[in-house]
Amino acid sequence: MWIDTHCHLDAPEFAADCEAVVQRARAVGVAQMVLPAVQAADFERVRSLAHAHDAAYALGIHPLFVDRADAADLERLCAALQAHRDDPRLVAVGEIGLDHFVPGLDLQRQQQFYLAQLKIARDAALPVILHVRRSADSLLQGLRRIDVAGGIAHAFNGSEVQARQFLARGFGLGFGGAVTFERALQIRALAAGLPQTALVLETDAPDIPPQWLYRTAAERAAGATSRNEPAELPRIGAVLAQLRGWSLEDTARITAANAHAALPRLAALPQPGAVDHG
Ligand SMILES: [Zn+2]
Repeated sequence: MWIDTHCHLDAPEFAADCEAVVQRARAVGVAQMVLPAVQAADFERVRSLAHAHDAAYALGIHPLFVDRADAADLERLCAALQAHRDDPRLVAVGEIGLDHFVPGLDLQRQQQFYLAQLKIARDAALPVILHVRRSADSLLQGLRRIDVAGGIAHAFNGSEVQARQFLARGFGLGFGGAVTFERALQIRALAAGLPQTALVLETDAPDIPPQWLYRTAAERAAGATSRNEPAELPRIGAVLAQLRGWSLEDTARITAANAHAALPRLAALPQPGAVDHG
């Protein structure tokens, strides 16, 4: 059983064929998927998509969306978490975090939304799904101030010291398409060397295509697409298996157990989509 701990099935890229995308994922053994929201306007759609496709979901405001969010959106988050507190498919607050890579963003505003949502997660007793881009130290600072119930640092791209600080706070680290690029030395070294309990798998679909889906800017300009999707997860898992020297079965079992440890409500969900590959 594979778990895609991070896929944006609500993205416009999947509007036309979401059902087929989910079926392809089930067919290759992706038993569970977690759909993180990025803005308040999407909360209900993400929730209904999760219910329609036997998936789990998280609610939060993504750092790249805080420029168009306001205090009322934080209230909408609180209200939605309250309204759906007994929904077993609601497994985390996310996607929240800090992006110090994309130029021109209001970092102070990101920080305000990040801290506010950490408090909301703490009060709701839910783990968080964190967006980390050149921001691991600032994220860790927030976690030292506001004690949340762990979660996942998604698409992790920090140093080993930072990785170990997230682990010490009960976080799993999300590995996806980036690990499939041979030149991604740092990420591959982390995937190979961190304690096995650190590792969870994700696609971040439709983003972060693995190496075999990657298209250059010139190829994309000529019409080539590089949409990532949850069905790529086992092949990404196979790359991790190779880096660790594990069997595919062990890789699936270990990363699924880690995902369940990071997102306990996910462990309690039935897995109706699981396909027995014998
Ligand atoms: Zn994401």
